[in-house]
Amino acid sequence: MSAVLHLDDLRVPVETGGASRKARLTIEADGSLRLRAAEDVATEELTQFLASKREWVYRKLAEKEVLQHEPVTKELVDGEGFQYLGRSHRLKIGDAHGTVHLERGRLVLPRPLVEVGEASLIAWYQRCGEAWLRPRVRSWAERLRVEPGAVEVADLGHKWGSATAGKRVRIHWATLQLSPALVDYVLAHELAHLREPHHGPDFWQLLGRVMPEYDERKQELAKRGAGLWFGGTS
Ligand SMILES: [Zn+2]
Repeated sequence: MSAVLHLDDLRVPVETGGASRKARLTIEADGSLRLRAAEDVATEELTQFLASKREWVYRKLAEKEVLQHEPVTKELVDGEGFQYLGRSHRLKIGDAHGTVHLERGRLVLPRPLVEVGEASLIAWYQRCGEAWLRPRVRSWAERLRVEPGAVEVADLGHKWGSATAGKRVRIHWATLQLSPALVDYVLAHELAHLREPHHGPDFWQLLGRVMPEYDERKQELAKRGAGLWFGGTS
């Protein structure tokens, strides 16, 4: 048997034929899941086993801080849905020239830019994201007593955000699809790294001082992240 099960939005390929009758769920370095089980275990039993591991999976994914997702693709056509700061916006192909913008709740993509493809939408996430983040960076930086350089929105591959010793903080453009509470979590997390580079007790204590409910947000992030768009059109 070779099958793929799902835990919410997460794909879980099943490998059978192992010697052990006991099912085993592992999380690979890149955040992908794998379930190993004996040949004769019923799918229903595996589904139940998987469900019993839900909390563990999200906690582990949160610890790894990797983006775990099934590739979501978008079509650049009228009505396609895009998330920005936790809100859904329908795409509207506009007739005028100009840049991508929001207009009465719709995300307008000027027709000449359809050919450019997703790059113009990603550029919009970057542009709006940077403007939205600016005052929040100031406020979190003050609370954390750090002095970051400019905060940049970019494509960070499989990371939500990054902070380097040179005080440069970067946030993945895809993060901007999340609710403000979760973007704030990513931002505060990265800013806290300017004082505590590693995820030791001092780091979490510092973050907990300015964001007491950080652990809930962290797990929520691991959960929500699975359904986001990271580029890719069909
Ligand atoms: Zn970190």
